[in-house]
Amino acid sequence: MNKKQIINQLDTIALYLEIKGENPFKVAAYHRAGLALENDPRSMAGMSDLSKIKGIGKSTAQVIEELMAQGESSVLLALEKDIPHSLLDLLRLPGLGGKKIGKMYRELGVVDRDTLKDACEQGKVSQLAGFGKKTEEHLLQSLNEQLHRPKELPIPYMLDLAEKVERVLRSIETVSRFAHAGSLRRAKEKMKDLDFVIETADPEAVSRQLIEKLPIHEVVGQGDAKMTVQLDDPNQVSIDFRFATQEIYASMLLHFTGSKDHNVLLRRLAKERNEKISEYGIEREDGSVQTFKSEEDIYRYFGMSFIPPQAREGKSELDLAKKGPLNLIKLSDIKGDLHMHSTWSDGSHTISEMAEAMRSRGYLYACLTDHSQSLRVANGLSSERLLEQNEKVKKINEHYDDFTLFSGIEMDILPDGSLDYPNEVLSRLDFVIASIHSSFSQDKKQIMKRLENACRNPYVRLIAHPTGRMLGKRHGYAVDVSRLIELAKETGTALELNASRFRLDLSSEWLSKVQEAGVKIAINTDSHSLKMMEDMKLGVETAIRAGIEPQNVINTWPTDRLMDFFKNKKAF
Ligand SMILES: [Zn+2]
Ligand SMILES: [Zn+2]
Repeated sequence: MNKKQIINQLDTIALYLEIKGENPFKVAAYHRAGLALENDPRSMAGMSDLSKIKGIGKSTAQVIEELMAQGESSVLLALEKDIPHSLLDLLRLPGLGGKKIGKMYRELGVVDRDTLKDACEQGKVSQLAGFGKKTEEHLLQSLNEQLHRPKELPIPYMLDLAEKVERVLRSIETVSRFAHAGSLRRAKEKMKDLDFVIETADPEAVSRQLIEKLPIHEVVGQGDAKMTVQLDDPNQVSIDFRFATQEIYASMLLHFTGSKDHNVLLRRLAKERNEKISEYGIEREDGSVQTFKSEEDIYRYFGMSFIPPQAREGKSELDLAKKGPLNLIKLSDIKGDLHMHSTWSDGSHTISEMAEAMRSRGYLYACLTDHSQSLRVANGLSSERLLEQNEKVKKINEHYDDFTLFSGIEMDILPDGSLDYPNEVLSRLDFVIASIHSSFSQDKKQIMKRLENACRNPYVRLIAHPTGRMLGKRHGYAVDVSRLIELAKETGTALELNASRFRLDLSSEWLSKVQEAGVKIAINTDSHSLKMMEDMKLGVETAIRAGIEPQNVINTWPTDRLMDFFKNKKAF
């Protein structure tokens, strides 16, 4: 047993003791022993006399020695016999720890979710000391929510998990390279699980390290080609790790990226040539198997140009790729970001820090768009502060000859449809974004009146996050997107793809319609911090799903052309 596993076992003993209602000093002793091990830089093998280490007592030392020698602890085994294992599952409910679970177990006979639900419904939980009516209601609510747990989880949640897994994969030496596959690679808004394709010569060692380093609820299956685990997170997300040799890595990645429909089309194409395509490569009639260096090479083999993962949905992509390179936006087309916040409103960095970070991403320009005066929760700028900021931006801009910092604002469209600054203030800025941040429950007619007023203003160039949705959290307000697209077209206003992983607003479905209508698009991160700037990648991936061509996205344009767009809005 390694150190991490031993610490886990000590914590589990402490938890069981707590549930059992043992003396708190005894419980604390196990936690303290775990902490002492964690803080000691030596490996387990290097610690000879355990009870001499501060924080480890005589009895905890015995338990640790037993764990090291036998791989199990008789103390823990006895506790596991005594206390129902299903109680540990209740730890996933908000607000419950060992102490509270123990109380409900000992005094009410609660052993799992069902018995807890009964106890709550009968009002027994709120009568226990230390529990109130509120706690009982919360518990009941989350128990009911978990019953209707959505099968598909939103991309911000899954991206977060994937990034944690990627950090672990990067730390494993026997991993030559890896990529996420499946729905996440195709930038779908919702997905059921995560997939990774890993190139390694030693799948067993990689599996072992993944199990050691990831918070895992259960290893569902383990072999040389694949390991499936369930993560120890509130949704017990399942991850498939596929192991590939260098020769078959590209084929595996293509295969497990999907979509299913795209793979069906590829199989059909192979079949026409009396070949078979699979995760191992292309099998010819004579039984020989061809492997490929890259996904590009596989498409080339079929006489096609490369199809980016987000365009692999089994529609017309194969036919288009046979005709030549696809005209789809790429991350490298993006020349700047036109929506960001600084410490002047609710951002976490100064104007200079934000500008410098944008510049160091290789952008030619960025636009500062803090919040406007009515958004008091976000420290919105009064007209005076805005004009003062405008001067400051101009000064900062003087430092650069390879980068332009534009002066802008994210102006609130107020509940009655009026705008947050007079035109005379707006006329002093390079770029004006309008957006809705209040009175979300208004009916469609009023929401549309607000958006129409904004579009018809001669200075408003862009409507930001047009639907106000937050993925997995809220639907947004009652907007008629088709009508908004018409208004945008009529007034020459652009619409945003807000690339923040929490929003992706407009969705790729609507974005295709924006392009079809001939309305211009801006892909912006709405960054309130440096890290958020990275979501530009996700924004571009979403635009690829929508089939967006670079020339329709204003922040792919060179600085001069963008400035023309800033200046020439038809006056209404
Ligand atoms: Zn906003
Ligand atoms: Zn914003």
